[in-house]
Amino acid sequence: MPGLVNAHTHLYSGLAPLGMPVPERTPATFVQILERVWWRLDRALDERSLRASARYYVAEALMNGTTVLVDHHESPDFIEGSLDVLADVCHELGVRALLCYGATERNRGRDEAREGLRECARFVHANRRPLVRGLVGLHASFTVSDETLEEARDLCRDLGVVSHVHVAEDHADVDDARGRGYDGPLERLLRHELLGTELRDALQRAPGTGTAVAIVAAAIAPSLGDARGAEQAYAESGLKGFESKLTRDYLQHVTSTRPHRAVRRFFAAFIDLRNLMTLYKHLRWQIDDPAAFVPGGTLDTGRLREASAQGDGEYLDSAVRRVTGEPAAPAAAGQVALESRLLASLTRMLRKAGRDGDDVDLVLDYVWCTYVHARNRALYLHAGGMDAEVLQPELIA
Ligand SMILES: [Zn+2]
Repeated sequence: MPGLVNAHTHLYSGLAPLGMPVPERTPATFVQILERVWWRLDRALDERSLRASARYYVAEALMNGTTVLVDHHESPDFIEGSLDVLADVCHELGVRALLCYGATERNRGRDEAREGLRECARFVHANRRPLVRGLVGLHASFTVSDETLEEARDLCRDLGVVSHVHVAEDHADVDDARGRGYDGPLERLLRHELLGTELRDALQRAPGTGTAVAIVAAAIAPSLGDARGAEQAYAESGLKGFESKLTRDYLQHVTSTRPHRAVRRFFAAFIDLRNLMTLYKHLRWQIDDPAAFVPGGTLDTGRLREASAQGDGEYLDSAVRRVTGEPAAPAAAGQVALESRLLASLTRMLRKAGRDGDDVDLVLDYVWCTYVHARNRALYLHAGGMDAEVLQPELIA
């Protein structure tokens, strides 16, 4: 079951939404907000308040479907052992987490920064909780010296972990880096080799679609086991080919990982839907691409390929009937109508399983409902001004 990933957060601020005193003088800039609100809060944290904040935050995150948190922690008066407090909470409540202490010189100079880095190192070495990992953290370029940057870089190399740092959250960070003789904070981090190799390589390549394709392909290669294929698909048939190759590989990968039967059933139905849409397009535009059909559904790919090669519209009708339990829409009703029907049949299947099945079925039904809702809302947002007759068939039940 997929969960949401929060790639940057601060568990220490978990209790803040419950109410905080208003600063005596209203902050007018980003740095003043930090100075008068967040840096006062983080200095006030001790073990108990940190644990309470983290528990509240993690519970809320899980209840909203977030199962991975990438945290950036700071509590300048309680540094050593602070990551263990967060890690215990994550372990106890069952969320996956990447934790670091954001080293800074803003209160006590280099000593404070060294304590922060030492806490990261201590935690990376000592942690044994299976769902939690440690990283090296820096608060931001504008609150650390070059010496601290270099120490953080060496630590990353020694520990074999990446760094986590705020970059250009505000122009103040850019101004600070320029004042130190760099083009900006990112350039400063690049110069001190503080970014992960992949990110550094990506940033040093010419920006463009080709670069993005290569980076995405390399990033997914470890889980799908094939980077070349996606790049090759882009070279041969552009973005469309790239997208189609990624989707095909992903679907095949998911069905081969032996997921829970409810998830397997969903993906099989989703693959059927995709294959039927592919067949429809093949028949309509007289395309014949046997490789376009994805295995893993309930419809036999050999039969789909045969129907595509022979222009067999009757097979399409009978397969749509079988999948949706309804008579096939007349071909003249078009692609949009067919797709809406197929998607609506998926909604019915998940709704029924959600009522009759176990917890996983229920969650899957909920996730699908949310997806359908978001898709319909997005259509309204982008095409709300269109005629109802045009828009209506695009909406999914
Ligand atoms: Zn932040």
